[in-house]
Amino acid sequence: MAQAGDYRILHEADLRDYLAGVPDLNALLGGDPAVWPITEVGDGNLNLVFIVKGAKGGVAVKQALPYVRLVGESWPLPLSRAHYEFLALSRQAELAPGLVPALLHHNEALALTVMELLEPHIIMRKGMVAATQYPGFVDDITTFMARTPFFTSDLARSAAEKKQGIAAFAGNHALCKITEDLIFTDPYRVAEQNRWTAPYLDALAAELRDNMELHVAVSRLKLKFMASPEALLHGDLHTGSIMVTERQMRVIDPEFAFYGPMGFDIGAVLANLLMAYFASAGHERAPGDRQAFEGWVLETVEKVWAEFARKFLDLWRAGATGDAYPASLFAGETGAARLEAERQAYMQRLFADAVGFAAAKTIRRIFGLAHNIDFELIEDSKKRAICEARAVRLARAMMLETAAFRTVADVTGTARKLRDWMPELSD
Ligand code: ADP
Ligand code: MG
Repeated sequence: MAQAGDYRILHEADLRDYLAGVPDLNALLGGDPAVWPITEVGDGNLNLVFIVKGAKGGVAVKQALPYVRLVGESWPLPLSRAHYEFLALSRQAELAPGLVPALLHHNEALALTVMELLEPHIIMRKGMVAATQYPGFVDDITTFMARTPFFTSDLARSAAEKKQGIAAFAGNHALCKITEDLIFTDPYRVAEQNRWTAPYLDALAAELRDNMELHVAVSRLKLKFMASPEALLHGDLHTGSIMVTERQMRVIDPEFAFYGPMGFDIGAVLANLLMAYFASAGHERAPGDRQAFEGWVLETVEKVWAEFARKFLDLWRAGATGDAYPASLFAGETGAARLEAERQAYMQRLFADAVGFAAAKTIRRIFGLAHNIDFELIEDSKKRAICEARAVRLARAMMLETAAFRTVADVTGTARKLRDWMPELSD
């Protein structure tokens, strides 16, 4: 684990010397280290990320800071998160090969990881603001979404292995606490760091603070997040943690990784696609000019759930090597049929979890500390508020009436109906 004493922030000159001093990295980059271009590209909320290019190749270097970058030194955050990010990337690379950047080097004391430079990949959120469709996305993300949780769950692991997995990530509680506060608590109370598109969303913000049914619903989700170590989660699986080309996808940035409820990651993917859908109207240059993109987004929401469920169930049917659902209890034809019904019930419960978590992930992006560029890049604040209010209307229903969303088509159908709905705004 990172030792505070050996840690220093590597600025450009230091970083150059450091990389030149690691023989494998020096060889991979190639040429004269003195002329390697080094650019800081971190657009995230927490860490430094440098892109370094040599005569032969490039790398991405990520270093954790001892505080939250978005807020500053007043909000300390343990460097150990770099250890958990490295551990999660290693596990993900084993379980879902080719869907995360290759790891090249890790220095625990410096909280520093060197990885494959993803190029020409861009952050998926940015691509979606520009109305780009990604035909390869569904297949790649659902492989990642099915394989990492399945193979770290009690369906695939012995009880001992599973508990060792939980233990390996249990120390990442400071990052979990950020989620517990920023997603499941602050948007529903007065908190200094909350913000929203004022004055238009003032009444909606007040409703979040006053509606006791929402407080109950979000608190149930929070408890589920805290108390359900089902599998290894990415922990922050939004479209800003996904880099894409039209054909390829890589998941980055698993520093929030821990053993939690599978529905949390699934909900994150669905919520961020739905937010891209609702934001799209705000990026139109002419009415309807993003129609094809919007159709693709909703179709993607449907396919993400359907393909995830299909792949997860296939893994379960073929590879139930864990201690859950012992085969000896489900013998014969009757047993097989009963177990299959139980699998379907499991998926239904998982879908309900994902619906609830997707709602929480949406509300926090509109009323909490960290917003997303899907909405933020809509310059006209009234237009932005209208798009946000539509997303909140869906999220509110998903949180309060979760059981009414039986299938993913119920979600996309409601989203489609809200596309041109005109909310009442505060002024
Ligand atoms: P944070 O933890 O601070 O959110 P991220 O891991 O999300 O940091 O990285 C911040 C940004 O750095 C990303 O949005 C992306 O633009 C860039 N980046 C991160 N990893 C890579 C990589 N392997 N290749 C290319 N760019 C990367
Ligand atoms: Mg990030």
